[in-house]
Amino acid sequence: MKKVKKYYIICKNGERRYRDKIYKIGKMAVIIDGKSLAKKTRENLKIECEKLKDKGIIPKLAVIMVGDDPASKVYVRNKSKACDEIGVKYEEYILKDSITQKELIDLIHKLNEDKTVNGILLQSPIPNHLDIDEAFREISSEKDVDGFNPVNIGKLLLNQDTFVSCTPYGIMKMFEEYNIDLEGKNLVIIGRSNIVGKPLMACCLNNHATVTVCHSRTKGLKEKTKNADILIAAIGKSKFVTADMVKEGAVVIDVGINRGEDKKLTGDVDFEEVKKKASYITPVPGGVGPMTIAMLMNNVIKATINQNK
Ligand code: NDP
Repeated sequence: MKKVKKYYIICKNGERRYRDKIYKIGKMAVIIDGKSLAKKTRENLKIECEKLKDKGIIPKLAVIMVGDDPASKVYVRNKSKACDEIGVKYEEYILKDSITQKELIDLIHKLNEDKTVNGILLQSPIPNHLDIDEAFREISSEKDVDGFNPVNIGKLLLNQDTFVSCTPYGIMKMFEEYNIDLEGKNLVIIGRSNIVGKPLMACCLNNHATVTVCHSRTKGLKEKTKNADILIAAIGKSKFVTADMVKEGAVVIDVGINRGEDKKLTGDVDFEEVKKKASYITPVPGGVGPMTIAMLMNNVIKATINQNK
C-alpha cells in the first residue's frame, strides 16, 4: 500500500480511500467500503453477463428456500435484486416447512439436470427435520455457487480451482482491493462454522497467513486476538469484539449481522471503539454483507462460463 498524503491511501485500482477525519487528531482506521467494492464488482459482472448474452447464453440462478424465515426472505430478495441488476435469470422455489427430505432432494436433482440452470443455492437455515448436509452434498458440484458441496470444500482445502463460498471469497477480494497482504501475518478467526469460519480458514491459509481459529470452547481468547495482525469476527454476537481485544494497528473484519430490538444492524465488533485502534476495519452494514452477494453473482457467471466451455 502506498501512502500518499496523511489523509488517504491509494488503492490497487488507483482510487483514493479517505481515512476518517478524526485521523487528523489521532489515529483512525481506513473504513473498508464493501458497498462500493461490491457495486464495482457487479458492474464488471454485468459486462461479463452481456458478453455471454451476445453468445446466446443467459445465466440462471435457482434459489430454494424452505419455510418463511424473515431474515432468509430479506437475503433471498437481495439476491434476486442483484440478479436483476446484472442480467442473471432468477428462479425461486419457496417450499413449505412440511416438505420431506425426499421432496427437497428430488427438486435438487431436477435442477441439477436442468441445462438452463447454471447455479443452485439452498438458503439456510432450513427446518430441523431436514438434513442440510445431504442437501448440500446433492447439489451438483458444478452448480454449487455457494461452495458448500463437500467436493468444492475439499478442493478449497487443497487450494484447487473451485467455487469458494461467498462470504470468505468476498473478504479475500477486500484484502486484494486494499492491498492487505496476508503472507506471514498472524490471522485470527473467531467462529468455525461450515459456511464462514472453516472456508475462511482455508482461504487465509492458501494466502500464506498463519491462521488461528477460535470458537466457544477456546481458552484465553483475548490473548489470541490481541496477537492478531488480522482479526476476523464471525460469531453472531453484537459488539463481542471490544477494543481491549484488538492489537494496535490490526486489520479488523466484521462478518457478524445482528439485529437489535430497535431493528438496528450491528456487527460482532464494537465498531466505534475498535476503529480508533485498527488500521483497517469493515463497517456493518456496508462491509462484508454486500460483498457476499457480489461474490455469489461472480460464482454464477463462473459456473455459466464453465458449463458452456
Ligand atoms: P454460527 O452460529 O454457525 O457460528 C458462530 C461461531 O461463533 C461458532 O463457531 C461458535 O463457536 C463461535 N462462538 C460463539 N460464541 C462464542 C464465544 N463466546 N467465543 C468464541 N467463539 C464463539 O454462525 P455463522 O458462522 O453462520 O455466522 C456468524 C455471523 O456472521 C452471524 O452474525 C451471521 O449472521 C453472520 N453472517 C454474515 C454473512 C455476511 O454476508 N456478512 C454471511 C454469513 C453469516 P462453536 O463452534 O464452539 O459453537
